[in-house]
Amino acid sequence: MVALTLRRTVTRDPESEFAFELRTCRWAELEWPPGNDSVGDDTVVIVARQLGTKRRRWDTIVLECNRDGLRQRANFGLERLDSDLRHVVGNAPGEWTYYRDALPQPGYPWRYVREAIHRADDRGILETRKRGNRIEIRREWTYPDWLERVVAIENKPDLDASAARALGSQLEYDVAVGLADEVWVATRQTDERVEPALFEDLPVEAGILTLEPDDLTAEVEWHPRSLAIDEPGSRILDRPDGGERDDSAARFEYVDPDWKAAKRLAIAERAYERGWRSFVDTMRPDCRYFELCARDGVQARPHCAAKGCSQTAAECSGTCDEFEPEPPVWRTRGWPIEGGPGKRVQQLLAERRRRRRPGV
Ligand code: SF4
Repeated sequence: MVALTLRRTVTRDPESEFAFELRTCRWAELEWPPGNDSVGDDTVVIVARQLGTKRRRWDTIVLECNRDGLRQRANFGLERLDSDLRHVVGNAPGEWTYYRDALPQPGYPWRYVREAIHRADDRGILETRKRGNRIEIRREWTYPDWLERVVAIENKPDLDASAARALGSQLEYDVAVGLADEVWVATRQTDERVEPALFEDLPVEAGILTLEPDDLTAEVEWHPRSLAIDEPGSRILDRPDGGERDDSAARFEYVDPDWKAAKRLAIAERAYERGWRSFVDTMRPDCRYFELCARDGVQARPHCAAKGCSQTAAECSGTCDEFEPEPPVWRTRGWPIEGGPGKRVQQLLAERRRRRRPGV
């Protein structure tokens, strides 16, 4: 029974960025917010990773949510609500009404709205009935206002000058758009008297956090500024390369506050669905060498028994030379309804995610 054995690692793996990112997620889940601040009892923290927009993906995302709103959000299930579904359930009336009378003009063809109505009905989050040729709808629950703040964290365990340069332009982009309430850089703690990250050329609006991944402690080296999420932002499309002969100007476009609000909620819905343990979805838990290790006695993180290390998602893929399918006997429980290759690992992680969603 190798695949589900939770075992305590005794050697320290060299910390890959991926492993560091998982530690940051775990730390945030346990300790957010950093420093001496605290979120109130009414606030719940949800952590996810590798989400964002088409142009920018954040490593770690922390959502600060209000507990009551999150409980009400749970009525709609663990799966995310995309913008079409939110349009329907967010505007559904308390009394039976023809859907075109109940919902605001969508700005796209009504057939897509009908599709969303049927999907919502299938998920049990909207009541529908037919009157002649007309579809009438009635809400099951009110879609709550559950999201308070979105915080983005970039993980760079080894923040040297070249890593800081690459990161600096990404953080400038984040600050200019103002989609997240705060942006942070998380880097590994060093023994230096002054953390080297403070000497790097990063935007002053970004906070700097030094994390000790083994014992999951963190220090705030630089506090972030709150970004103006309710005001128009600007998206940097192109910037001069800074060469001696380069006199060109950077190109920007404005970002509407309504677009930002919708995008924040879309990211939050995806974070709610996926959490940060979804790393397993892009790996090979159906490989006989795939293990989950309990590094702090609690956190389940991937470990490869063949390579003897914490493998990255890129390594743990269909092209891995050492891949061997798990023996069929490991997956027989519940097969073929609940079983399947790697299913037990996925179920364990999904169960941990569910525990972090009040009301689910
Ligand atoms: S890295 Fe390769 S050998 Fe290791 S668990 Fe993943 S697929 Fe299997």
